[in-house]
Amino acid sequence: MNNKTSKRFSFEFFPPKTDLGKEKLATVRAELNKLEPDYFSVTYGAGGSTRDNTRDIVLTMKSEGISTAPHLSFGGDNEAAILELINQYKTAGIDRIVALRGDMPSGMGAQRLIYAEELVRFIREHTGDHFQLTVAAYPEIHPDAKSYHSDIQFLKRKMDAGADSAITQYFYNADAYFYFIEECQKAGIDKAIYPGIMPILNYENLARFSRNCGAEIPRWICKKLEGYGNDQESIAQFGTEVVTRLAEQLLDNGAPGIHFYTMNQIEPTRSIWNNLGLGER
Ligand code: FAD
Repeated sequence: MNNKTSKRFSFEFFPPKTDLGKEKLATVRAELNKLEPDYFSVTYGAGGSTRDNTRDIVLTMKSEGISTAPHLSFGGDNEAAILELINQYKTAGIDRIVALRGDMPSGMGAQRLIYAEELVRFIREHTGDHFQLTVAAYPEIHPDAKSYHSDIQFLKRKMDAGADSAITQYFYNADAYFYFIEECQKAGIDKAIYPGIMPILNYENLARFSRNCGAEIPRWICKKLEGYGNDQESIAQFGTEVVTRLAEQLLDNGAPGIHFYTMNQIEPTRSIWNNLGLGER
């Protein structure tokens, strides 16, 4: 038995828009569920744009006996609508929520985004300790943050408001995570902060997404990926190797587990999992 038995693992999906995507996701979750992660999570579209879709998938997975956590943000909704959704989850036996501020989708004007801290407080106020609440954390610092220090202070406020743990934005530099953890500890944050890891599937998409969310892809990884051009097989092989090494470094040096951004694909999550020897946990 290795020390990975005490770690916690979760797999994230996004809600597909089409019937075909939904069918495909049913196969993906059946396969990934065989790996026995601690839970799955399903994202919530910017501004609440996937509200019903997210809820339907979460409730379907729950009825299949799969432990699943919805992501949630106020988006453009009022308190009554969010409370109704939270109560639906509670009645269905959902016991974990990933609480976020979210981002405003383009075209929704200058509405004020409600900070995750306020959502955490709202959920605690209305449902007490029913839900495990997880929030987002940013080892490379959130793009809107005024400073490194202020971002950590706001994470502390989310924890103090009642969050139980955090999942990080993805990163490819383990030092950024470990430094961040030390700074969080100095700031008095003593709850688990799970690293989120993103598979490398397509260089252009990853580069574009990383620019928007403030995640840095190290130059050497960019150069290697650029060099592969459209050779998807080499990209997949290299990406799996890089992310396996990163995950191994994280687990071996004290990360409490890993959250996989699966991108609704079986691979490379399953290969990375097997490379890490987690099949036997
Ligand atoms: P917050 O914690 O509210 O922070 C947002 C920014 O405001 C930060 O810069 C922070 O420093 C600052 N801040 C916080 N509180 C205050 C305050 N009181 N006063 C002033 N400034 C403050 N997006 C989606 O749309 N759907 C998803 O399902 C989704 N899932 C995610 C899952 C994970 C694990 C992660 C890491 C991100 C996810 N995101 C998702 C992206 C996330 O919604 C965006 O990064 C968003 O911009 C910030 O959300 P947050 O909950 O971190 O915000």
